[in-house]
Amino acid sequence: MVQPRVVVVGAGPAGVRCAEQLVAAGLRPVVIDEGRRDGGQIYRRQPEGFTRSYATLYGSEAERAAALHRGFDAIRDRIDYRSETLAWNITAGELHVVRDGIASRIGFDALVICSGATDRLMPVKGWQLAGTYSLGAAQIALKSQACSIGREVVFMGTGPLLYLVAMQYLKAGAKVAGVLDTSRLRDQLKALPQLLARPRLLRNGLSFISSLRAAGVPVLSGIEPLEIKGLPEDGVRSLVFRDKGGATREIACDAIAMGYHLRPETQLADLARCAFRFDAETRQWFPEVSLEGRSSVAGVYLAGDGARILGADGAENAGRLAALSALSDLGIPVRRAQVDELIARQQKMDRFRRGLVQGFPWPVRQAAQLPDDAIVCRCESITAGELRHVAREMGACEANRAKAFSRVGMGRCQGRYCGQAGAEIIAHATGVPVELVGRLRGQAPVKPLAIVTHEEQE
Ligand SMILES: Cc1cc2nc3c(=O)[nH]c(=O)nc-3n(C[C@H](O)[C@H](O)[C@H](O)COP(=O)(O)OP(=O)(O)OC[C@H]3O[C@@H](n4cnc5c(N)ncnc54)[C@H](O)[C@@H]3O)c2cc1C
Repeated sequence: MVQPRVVVVGAGPAGVRCAEQLVAAGLRPVVIDEGRRDGGQIYRRQPEGFTRSYATLYGSEAERAAALHRGFDAIRDRIDYRSETLAWNITAGELHVVRDGIASRIGFDALVICSGATDRLMPVKGWQLAGTYSLGAAQIALKSQACSIGREVVFMGTGPLLYLVAMQYLKAGAKVAGVLDTSRLRDQLKALPQLLARPRLLRNGLSFISSLRAAGVPVLSGIEPLEIKGLPEDGVRSLVFRDKGGATREIACDAIAMGYHLRPETQLADLARCAFRFDAETRQWFPEVSLEGRSSVAGVYLAGDGARILGADGAENAGRLAALSALSDLGIPVRRAQVDELIARQQKMDRFRRGLVQGFPWPVRQAAQLPDDAIVCRCESITAGELRHVAREMGACEANRAKAFSRVGMGRCQGRYCGQAGAEIIAHATGVPVELVGRLRGQAPVKPLAIVTHEEQE
């Protein structure tokens, strides 16, 4: 009998556990990942030839990283794994991929999208200067290449990654010039009951803060970033911010890592024509997905941070759930008890997620206060003033219209890094609620790709 073809995009925690579940049911899924190696963001494997230990690379998550890597190695021969392969478009029943400049199309009976998330960013005046990175990029430099992004690094933003990456830098011997959090201690105290849903993670977070303090690193909360100062020719020199008492302060540094939680990578779900919903708590758009991982489109399943941001354990669960749903829809029997158990775990994790959202809020006010001459779209060098102009004077209050008029979101990143802040700026400038400003539509190719010369069909 011909087996159904299930294609999984992403070899992070969600994708690997999904593939494992499919293999256990006797299938040979195709697993696509643009990365060189499996592991995804958190369990990113070091390049071949690097020999750092699991404890050095993953700290408190070493055991979990090793378990995921073992899981992948065990199924490696029973999946059709395609690394360094970008999924760039989806059309009816076909995933379009490109590897080494060669394009091909892969037909599927079921598609599981486990595309993860990236940093969620809020612009600050001067963030186009060399030396300004996202927290994720700073972490990738360290995990992948054992490099620091600078000699004196300031970590700024909010959310658990802020403290985690600062701690990883400190442990690696880098100089951490400061950890500046835009959220306030009282937000975190209010969120405590929800954060207690996952005591181990809460303990980890608190221990990072106390270790940073013990090492003499200034750790400040309730700050407001004002400007990254420096010169175009040699990059970042300092960060100016307002402290929680209202005083303006400046901290010297040659690199800044910034981020405000995560935003889901949703372009593939968009191209698959999945329905989206606005999440009022986080003020961002997510694809609609059931607890079992079904999207609004038959045969398309979503799992991991790309669908609902629950962290790595949540992604592993969600990957398994999506696989079980795909199997069941393909007529392959699954154990209902396993599905119910996975759903119960997801619900507990969701409580913790809500605590994080409440304790480390997205700094909406910063968008309103961004000076007119601050750049919003780094790819196209478009300022907040230019965006406000098209919104107010040309009536472009909807995100895609404002993009067409201003070019905010039209560059290489296709609005993945500036789109959400841009929507907040338009909302504040025009008085239109941000959910009505909407979201930038996903466009193919989802990421820049080389011009291709051949096309193959499978
Ligand atoms: C930058 C960053 C750093 C993080 N660091 C930590 C951390 O230190 N500790 C922690 O607890 N949590 C961390 N998180 C959160 C954690 O990584 C996630 O919760 C977890 O990895 C989610 O797993 P996932 O499988 O959903 O996605 P990911 O692990 O992100 O995996 C997604 C995979 O999909 C691939 N992919 C995406 N789009 C395509 C495409 N179009 N074509 C081909 N392949 C594609 C990617 O290459 C990636 O391998 C971090 C998140 C980010 C974004």
